[in-house]
Amino acid sequence: MEHVSKRVQSLSVSQTLAMAQKSRELKEQGIDVINMSLGEPDFNTPDDIKEAAKKAIDDNYSFYPPVPGYTDLRQAIARKFKEENGLDYTPEQIIVSAGGKHTLINILLSVVDPCDEVIILAPYWVSYLDQIIFSEGKPVVLNTTIECDFKVTPEQLESAITPKTRVLIFNSPSNPTGMVYTREEMAAIASVIEKHPQVLVISDEIYEHITFAGAHVSMASFSAITDRVVTVNGVSKGYAMTGWRIGYMGAPLWLAKACNKLQGQFTSGVCSIAQRAALAAVTSKSDSKVRMREAFLRRRDLICRLLGEIEGLKVRVPQGAFYVMPEVTSFNGKSYNGVTINNADDLILFLLSEARVALVSGSAFGAPDCIRISYATSDDRITEAIKRIKEALGKLK
Ligand code: PMP
Repeated sequence: MEHVSKRVQSLSVSQTLAMAQKSRELKEQGIDVINMSLGEPDFNTPDDIKEAAKKAIDDNYSFYPPVPGYTDLRQAIARKFKEENGLDYTPEQIIVSAGGKHTLINILLSVVDPCDEVIILAPYWVSYLDQIIFSEGKPVVLNTTIECDFKVTPEQLESAITPKTRVLIFNSPSNPTGMVYTREEMAAIASVIEKHPQVLVISDEIYEHITFAGAHVSMASFSAITDRVVTVNGVSKGYAMTGWRIGYMGAPLWLAKACNKLQGQFTSGVCSIAQRAALAAVTSKSDSKVRMREAFLRRRDLICRLLGEIEGLKVRVPQGAFYVMPEVTSFNGKSYNGVTINNADDLILFLLSEARVALVSGSAFGAPDCIRISYATSDDRITEAIKRIKEALGKLK
């Protein structure tokens, strides 16, 4: 008997992970594929954080942790929110989960009732859509264009809000576009939300430490809506800790309590050792975070310069994260060797076979005219990859 629930059937397989799998298969055949499909820093976790984890093992952090996270970690996160973001959360308002992804599903399952509308802004991070569907919410997708730097306007948002709107998911710096909303743009969005007291904002700030546009602005810092914003963050991106699986939220107390209850039934809290490592990360005095950001900025400049030399690609310079999202419609209808490109999906398959570079189609992010390139790889690999892409695209006539 094989029976998979409708709930799980309704989930799609992550296209970014599927692409990574394809490139692994080619690598196993001895083909030199440059993988620019994944959303993780290529750096190792900094040494002070690794040491803290080793010590935690020796100190016998081997018992069930408190469901919402260790008290000292929640206190440290509350301090981080105060010092870095100007936000006032008490430790009771902090819940530590197994990654930002887990934090997000905890929130959606805690606030969304069947058919509640959840607004997401395309291009959006892949998992938002599936998590909303899994939570039985109704996704409402607002489209943006490269001409507007992939940013939504307050008017667009206003016209999408209905009495059924329960949540807006907001993500700056953005995966997949790398765009960062300015303080003024965010203030305008906050003003729209202010008028609709039924709406909660999930502000996904997981890339806050990888921003090239000046100080990061938190959505919860707009006082008129602070009590209706849940701030999502984690250590994966800023501290090169994707595998440790630690994310966290600063939430209104009622929501923190709901997520704590949910987490109590599903995970009994998250890995004790990873939590001790996360404590070292959020309290670290080392400059590794800054050095990683500088490396990403240098690579951003490099990749944008190289992409700018390729005819037919429309590129906007990203202000954060480690992605760039060119528009590729000018290649539609072109062919090489009997293969015709009809859309971005075709183009990334063509680039995988012809350039041996793995990218992700924008269709995975609700942006079917674009492709996403992750530049979290070395300068040499970036240079080589873009050279290959340029050669391959040049063959399309
Ligand atoms: N939000 C965004 C926008 C992301 O890109 C990611 C990771 N790709 C996450 C959340 C989740 O990260 P993690 O679960 O590793 O903390």
